[in-house]
This record gives sequence, structure tokens and C-alpha cells, in this order.
Amino acid sequence: MHKNVSICVIGSGYVGLVAAVCFAEMGHHVNCVDNDEAKVKMLLAGGVPIYEEHLEEMLKKHLGHGVQFTTDLSAAVKASEAVFIAVGTPQGDTGAADLSYVEAVVSEIARAMNGYKVIVEKSTVPVYTNEWIRRVMHRHGVDAQSFDVVSNPEFLREGTAIGDFLHPDRIVVGANTERAAELLRRIYAPLTDGSYYAKASSLKGDLSATNPAKLLVTSAQSAEIIKHASNAFLALKISFINAVANLAESVDADIEDISAGIGLDSRIGPKFLRAGIGYGGSCFPKDVAAFHWVAQQQGVDFQLLDEVRKINERQKDIFFNKVRAALWTLRGKKLAALGLAFKRDTDDIRESPAIDVIRKFLDAGASVCAYDPAATERAQSVLPASKQMSYAEGIYEAAKDADALLILTDWAEFADLDLTKLNQALKFPIVVDGRNLYAPEKMAEQGFTYVSMGRPANYTTQQGKPQKMVLS
Ligand code: NAD
Repeated sequence: MHKNVSICVIGSGYVGLVAAVCFAEMGHHVNCVDNDEAKVKMLLAGGVPIYEEHLEEMLKKHLGHGVQFTTDLSAAVKASEAVFIAVGTPQGDTGAADLSYVEAVVSEIARAMNGYKVIVEKSTVPVYTNEWIRRVMHRHGVDAQSFDVVSNPEFLREGTAIGDFLHPDRIVVGANTERAAELLRRIYAPLTDGSYYAKASSLKGDLSATNPAKLLVTSAQSAEIIKHASNAFLALKISFINAVANLAESVDADIEDISAGIGLDSRIGPKFLRAGIGYGGSCFPKDVAAFHWVAQQQGVDFQLLDEVRKINERQKDIFFNKVRAALWTLRGKKLAALGLAFKRDTDDIRESPAIDVIRKFLDAGASVCAYDPAATERAQSVLPASKQMSYAEGIYEAAKDADALLILTDWAEFADLDLTKLNQALKFPIVVDGRNLYAPEKMAEQGFTYVSMGRPANYTTQQGKPQKMVLS
């Protein structure tokens, strides 16, 4: 039987809420804090502010027993041995992470200290943040013996966050003292000794009682860098394949075949090798920028990261130009947009390339009718409905009388369209696919002009024969 740990999680967003619920699922007592009163009220009533598989059921299972929500940070900290900081670390003006939310929280923790506690950085933060947290604690008069600071970066992906948290590829604990490392080992013991997976009620996934989670203990600095470097590397993989896609297109090669051929190399692997309109979300863009900033501060030349960003930005223009080439002019055209979220299975629209691309079309005078299975409500806050911008409740409603259909997010349902119905709904059978969800030959056979990323475009002749289309 494990010894439970009393845990405080500060921030109940994508990371904090998932961590809080999963720690409760692992048998710990969790107080989850947020300064957003409306959010806390909603959570206390069993409501879930984000779209995430398994979250609602798991919250129901533990609410009021394993996990509680509050706006009272001080009381929650006082009641806890470990305090996880999971507030936002957005991008500041210089590219550096804005750590003001973290600093504000640390000051409040300092005022609430009532015994030894481990302060855990769960938010993604630049290297040496652990040192800064220590300094802020000292400035508030907290003595060095009564706390440790640990970096425990989070690698969950939105859309599969609960599964990722409970079945992690690895758990990284950056601790500069053994006492702190030991507390983190205790917290994650149900996953690392397999006892969680042995329970009949456990969430099933890749890990099991005989193949439990791996926990890697490093220094705090190394753990901070592991997180930034992991995200930067994934972003780099996406930009790399996008750059290759642009080359492939110019020589009539097919990026899907190329990705398959590269990805089968076990040293490379197939993941994150999908060409498209680029990465987005609340992590990759800001983490690439923050990591680059850190390198600059240390006098390390890491221009590669700026190239990753530039390629990513360019993808959106490349997509825009494809649409313009397919439609000739844009002013007054009606476009159907499938997807608003930055990727499938989430309602998160932060830094969504879909939103950026839609803005470009609106600026060019086109009107856009968009559909997304989960992100419409959030999108309306940044792209309010207007004469030019409208939202549909379904795919074919969005497509009705549109001059072209644009695929912007890789939701599974967008890969499974009823092509006959789509053809009937559209004014012209033109599909510009920013996520390569279809085989060009199949689309041509179905009578579509089909333009995608890193593959030769096809259009249909009047005789119904697919032909190559040359884009300017
Ligand atoms: P989020 O914006 O969804 O959530 C942050 C929460 O913190 C909000 O609910 C906000 O109200 C709350 N908050 C802010 N200041 C507070 C304060 N002083 N007291 C109490 N609550 C406060 O952010 P997120 O997506 O969960 O990201 C949090 C951190 O985790 C970031 O550093 C991010 O880079 C990192 N991260 C995110 C993901 C992801 O997929 N979203 C994955 C791994 C790591």
C-alpha cells in the first residue's frame, strides 16, 4: 500500500486540471487552486471547462474525495507536502517566457509556508527558473531548509492528456536534493511500480503492471532543458518535413511517400513527419521562442530554432497562395473552412494555424464559414461572427454553396467525408487540403480539383480525366 501524498496543484488549465485529477486517480489527496472564480465554481459543480477525453468521468469519480477545487491558495498550500505550479508561461515581447504568473504564485506560496514542502515546476519554464524560485522564496524570508524546488516537466498532449499522464513515455524529475527526489518518487510510485495498472479500474493504455512507467532523475537545470529541447525537437521535425514537402512539390514528388520512406528508419520514426499548414498550439511556438532566447542569453548560437519558426510561418502563406491559385481571385469568394482547433481532438485554438489562415482570407475580402467539432465556441471569441465570418453546425452546412472547401485541422471526421454529398453541397468541387487527409487520385476520380501540401495538384478535365495542375 502506498503512502498518499497531500498535493496542491496551482492552476487548473489543461495541465493543472489533468494533473490534479490524475494524482487523485493515483490515490493522492489533491487541492487544485485557480484564481479564476468562475472556473473553480464550474469544477466544483462537476463541470469541465476543456474538451479532453476521460476527463469528465474521472473528475466525477474523484471530486470531493481525492480532488477538491478552491480559490484559496494559502489554505491549499498549508495543507500540502508538494506544491505543483501549473500556471501559464506565455511568450513575452522578446520571445522569452513571461514568468510573471509563476513569480506571483511563488510569492503567495512563500507567505503560506508552514513546514517543509517541495515546490514543483510543472509549467514549462526556462533553465534556471528553479534558481529564481529559490531566490524569491528567500526574499520573502523563507529559510532554505524548509523547501526544495523540483522541475517535473509535463509532456502530455492535448486531446490525449489523461492517457498521456497515466501512461507516460517517461517521468522526468529534476531535483537537486535527495529528499525532494524521494517525495516525487513517492508521488509517481503507483505508475513506476505498476500497482496502478494492476488495478481493475485503471485506465488502460500502453503501460502495464509488468511494463510500468520509467522515472528519470536529473538535476533541475537538466530537467528544465529536457522539456524545452523536446518541444523544440518536435517542432523541428514538423518544419523539416514541411520544407521537404515544398521541395517535393516543386519536383513532382509526393511528400506522403517520402514521409513513409523516411519514417520507416527506426532512428527517425514516423511521428511528427506530416506535412501541413504548420504547428501551433499553446506550447510549440512559445517554447521554440523561449528556448532560442535562453540560448541567446547564454551566448550560444542556435539559429536553427529561428529557421524552424520561419518555415512554420511560411507554411501558412504557402497554403494561402494555393487557395488563391486555385480560385484566381479571393474578394467576394465564399470559403468553407473545416477546422479551427490547432490540431485534432482538442478545443484549444491558441496559436492555431487554422485561425491565422482564416484571418488571411478575411483580410483578402473572402467570406468564411467554419465548422469544428469542438472549438467553435472558443473561436468565436477571437473571430466573432460577422457578415464575412460565420459558423456552421456541420460539415455540409459549412460547404453549402462555397467556392472551395479548405481542410485546416486533422480531425478524424474530416478524413471521412461523404464525397458525393460534399460535391453536391459545394458551388465548385474544389478542395484545398492543408492536412493531406486524402489521396489525390481518389479526389480526382470523384471529380474534385484537389490541392494539398507537398504533392502534385490535380484538377479534373471536362472529360473527367484527372490532370496535373500547375500552380503559380
Ligand atoms: P492554461 O492557461 O490552460 O491554465 C493556466 C491556469 O492557471 C488558468 O486556469 C489560470 O486561471 C490559472 N492561474 C493563473 N494565475 C494564477 C494564480 N496566480 N493563481 C491560481 N491560478 C492561476 O495553461 P496550460 O495549457 O495548462 O499550461 C500551463 C503550463 O504547462 C504552461 O507553462 C505550458 O507551457 C505547460 N504545458 C502545457 C501543455 C499543454 O498541452 N497545454 C503541455 C505541457 C506543458
